[in-house]
Amino acid sequence: MTLHDLENKWIQEFPQPLIIAGPCSAESEAQMLDTAKRIKESAPEVSVFRAGIWKPRTKPNGFEGVGIIGLNWLKKVKEEYGFQTATEVANAHHVDAALKADVDILWVGARSTTNPFTVQEIAEALKGTDKTVLVKNPVNPDLALWIGALERLLAQGITNLGAIHRGFSTYQKTKYRNSPNWQIALDFKNQFPNIPLIVDPSHICGNRQGLSAIAQEALNLGYSGAIIETHCNPDEAWSDAAQQITPEVLGNLIQNLQVRHSDFSGFDEEIVMHRTLISDLDFQLIQILAERMKVSEKIGSLKKANNIAIFQPDRWKVITEYAAQKADETGMSREFIERVFKSIHEESVEVQNRI
Ligand code: PEP
Ligand code: MN
Repeated sequence: MTLHDLENKWIQEFPQPLIIAGPCSAESEAQMLDTAKRIKESAPEVSVFRAGIWKPRTKPNGFEGVGIIGLNWLKKVKEEYGFQTATEVANAHHVDAALKADVDILWVGARSTTNPFTVQEIAEALKGTDKTVLVKNPVNPDLALWIGALERLLAQGITNLGAIHRGFSTYQKTKYRNSPNWQIALDFKNQFPNIPLIVDPSHICGNRQGLSAIAQEALNLGYSGAIIETHCNPDEAWSDAAQQITPEVLGNLIQNLQVRHSDFSGFDEEIVMHRTLISDLDFQLIQILAERMKVSEKIGSLKKANNIAIFQPDRWKVITEYAAQKADETGMSREFIERVFKSIHEESVEVQNRI
């Protein structure tokens, strides 16, 4: 069996989109129960309660999670408020303890996904169970590692799988804590349309302001759900305080989300018409590019015959300025046009180099 054969019916047992919420970390029984109670009241769309029991921290001596005792609190949350529960597991001991405590959904954290030894250990500890396991993308932008982790779980017979897109580390400071790199997640989604993909706006943003835009963007792209860190008193949270929101803010955020679905019934014909038009335009684009490359090749032959360097910075400047001007005139983003032209120019240089 391969990842392509999975049906992943588990997600159909939940209201769509699947919303998972709860604190970054379990801190105390009171914090867990208060958060759960208020989520139940303010955000009834939430069906799974999350809390980290073991916390991977960049530096030692920080708060590394309450450990096993937190599993009892998750159990209480389930009993008192009827949520399914979810926590992160990072080794075989965590898996054993979480299975004993009847946690419903386990997730593999972004740091663990980077390490095949860790994933293998987790997968082997899960063998023989029918747990639902969500795999966060690795911290580094490596699609193969993400897929490899899911394959390791599948190889041990775990068939209820999902993926969490939590963004990727960058050394440069950006407005995100973890850059979304949507293309990687979309490549994942294109390869495995049947594996539910869930967005984690909290770890992408690292702040509260950006959450709803990221969640909305993911829903627009056809994601199956979101996992959002929610805390009864976010400012005082023991981990990830800056990105956590109250249950009431969460309720509001969910209310404002627009849910799209991929069912085109009702306007089938219109979509087909537009898509045909797009295909036609794409074909024209490709033909024009082919023509452009042929002209480029001719220039390349002239340069070669006259011993002129292929890359001419002045000419490149003229091209980019012209493109920027045309971008403005047609109301397109300059950055986008610049990206397109960089790519075209790179290929032209390649073509001329081959002569
Ligand atoms: C978390 O969900 O609290 C967490 C530690 O996430 P990640 O593995 O994505 O950093
Ligand atoms: Mn967190």
